[in-house]
Amino acid sequence: MGGKFLSIGECMVELSQAGDGLLRRGFAGDTFNTAWYARACLPADWSVDYFTVLGDDPMSDEMLAMMEKAGIGISHIRRIPGKTPGLYLITLKDGERTFSYWRDTAAAKKLAADADHLRTAIEAADLIYFSGITLGILASEAVDTLLSELRRAKASGKIVAFDPNIRPRLWPVGEEGKEAMLKTIEAGARAATLVLPSFDDEKAHFGDVDIAATIARYHVLGVPTVVVKDGPGGVTLSFDRKVEHVAAVEAKAAVDTTSAGDSFNGGFLSRLLTGETPAKAATHGAAVAATVIGHHGALIDPGLLPR
Ligand code: ADP
Repeated sequence: MGGKFLSIGECMVELSQAGDGLLRRGFAGDTFNTAWYARACLPADWSVDYFTVLGDDPMSDEMLAMMEKAGIGISHIRRIPGKTPGLYLITLKDGERTFSYWRDTAAAKKLAADADHLRTAIEAADLIYFSGITLGILASEAVDTLLSELRRAKASGKIVAFDPNIRPRLWPVGEEGKEAMLKTIEAGARAATLVLPSFDDEKAHFGDVDIAATIARYHVLGVPTVVVKDGPGGVTLSFDRKVEHVAAVEAKAAVDTTSAGDSFNGGFLSRLLTGETPAKAATHGAAVAATVIGHHGALIDPGLLPR
């Protein structure tokens, strides 16, 4: 029996170096990456929809065409005349990647401006996925609108999955900005039934001493299921208060770790939704992530992924 997977956030135009001063145009964004891998891993009786707002410019047209071609539903995507998508540029210097962003005026910042539209999309879904980046691009009233719809979804028994994906550059600078960031991440977690944090981020920003501390903190916030990712250290799952560790799958080559966490989430959630045990679902997520980091770019050809 199939169902509906809905991912909410921002997909951006990606520019990467193609040599001789040329730039290659791609599309990516954390919640979109997860939708991409969920689509690749879920059977055909599951739909995967993306929820965002775009403009009416040619880049928005191309992005929508790319989503449709990938089999990702676009019927919930509103378009605002005169707006454009956000954009980022990847620069490689001495093997290190740096990212420059142009997203302050992106159409996606308006994704929670129409609460009825948001509710209609969320009510139709079985699983709703969002992240700390989704929250980080929104004004505080928009965060409240989105989270109240997600709390309603949680209360009605839907799966609400949240990756905190903590990115300080999306928040105001200084102590107040940091406090607002952590409070908003916690509010996001409270609206969720399942969180998928990365231990490095949680340690750096919440000061967790170990993975057990991360798990305990999210349970206290009322999240029943916690899945902590720890790079090559694998993942630790806490389901029904039963804690299990699942090893990472060895990557043949770690070429580009962009999207490791996003692709893990897509692979893991897909298998969970189709009835696998959490540990087996995590093993699949780890195999998907290991393949993704063996290739360049956030979005790899679904044909390369493990079955
Ligand atoms: P994020 O990208 O969100 O920081 P992580 O780095 O924790 O997430 O990685 C997510 C998952 O990707 C891990 O749980 C693991 O399964 C896989 N992974 C990450 N780095 C490696 C690696 N070097 N080798 C194999 N698997 C990895």
